[in-house]
Amino acid sequence: MVWTGPGAEAGRERLAEYGAARVYVAEGEEFAGYVVAPTAELLAQLVGQVSPAAVLVAGTTEGKEIAGRLAVKTNSGVLTDAIDMTAGESGPVATHANFGGAITVHATVTKGTPILAVRPNAITAQPAPAPGAAELVPVEFTASEAAKAARVTEHAAAEKGARPDLTEASIVVSGGRGTGSADGFKIIEDLADSLGAAVGASRAVTDAGWYPHQFQVGQTGKTVSPQLYVAVGISGAIQHRAGMQTSKTIIAINKDPDAPIFEIADLGIVGDLFKVVPQLLEEIGKHEQL
Ligand SMILES: Cc1cc2nc3c(=O)[nH]c(=O)nc-3n(C[C@H](O)[C@H](O)[C@H](O)COP(=O)(O)OP(=O)(O)OC[C@H]3O[C@@H](n4cnc5c(N)ncnc54)[C@H](O)[C@@H]3O)c2cc1C
Repeated sequence: MVWTGPGAEAGRERLAEYGAARVYVAEGEEFAGYVVAPTAELLAQLVGQVSPAAVLVAGTTEGKEIAGRLAVKTNSGVLTDAIDMTAGESGPVATHANFGGAITVHATVTKGTPILAVRPNAITAQPAPAPGAAELVPVEFTASEAAKAARVTEHAAAEKGARPDLTEASIVVSGGRGTGSADGFKIIEDLADSLGAAVGASRAVTDAGWYPHQFQVGQTGKTVSPQLYVAVGISGAIQHRAGMQTSKTIIAINKDPDAPIFEIADLGIVGDLFKVVPQLLEEIGKHEQL
């Protein structure tokens, strides 16, 4: 386990509960102030010093950038977006769902120290406590001038009630052309907010300008793998499925009983979304009042 910045002592108990044997602590100012480069440098230094069997980084945008930089610095192989990880004879084996889940690939790193990142929400099991010593080991580290080339100039807290990040959310509610207009799409936001979910959209919606492009799910948009994906007024074209097919549970609402989205849905509701979604909102509201 590697801890960057202050506060390691406060976090130690929790790390011990979940099996950390040793916690390498680098308490510099540089981590908070300088995006990802100093963290990649620190990890490269530690890889040289302690020769770990593998380096596991968080599967976030930031974590994946750190993974890429670390791989270059240590001349190692990197595997990101894994949906599972097992121990193999010659190191960790990562499982990947490619082409929208149509092909499953198992991969191992064959060079250097394996660097791995698991896709958020891919592993559903709750972490099991496994007591460890969590010995705090201070690390001498000074970031290079090159690593300090890009500086964080401001932190702005997300607005209260802001939605979770699309690629990391455990629930995603996506709307398609069936919503009819930018105004009609607002019902998707209402449903998402009632479930604490992120909002996604099909390309038909983003191309029409009803919702911003960064929320597009699919082959040419974001890949999501939430616990629950609610597809509303989306036909389920292959290019859309490529971005959401590995979701754990899929609910589809569509007025066409032959819409392809129903082929992959765990639960399908055939009906007009402008009638179904308000009823859902009402039921969710009742549930919240209990
Ligand atoms: C190279 C390439 C890349 C692409 N990349 C992507 C991508 O990343 N993401 C993506 O989404 N698409 C992508 N597409 C486009 C894709 O092929 C589809 O055109 C698109 O996904 C269709 O979006 P849609 O399902 O919202 O619209 P439609 O296919 O028009 O479906 C609308 C659905 O809404 C239903 N509906 C209509 N009114 C209602 C109502 N009132 N209540 C309930 N249901 C209703 C209809 O029955 C229909 O099934 C790509 C295409 C290409 C060629």
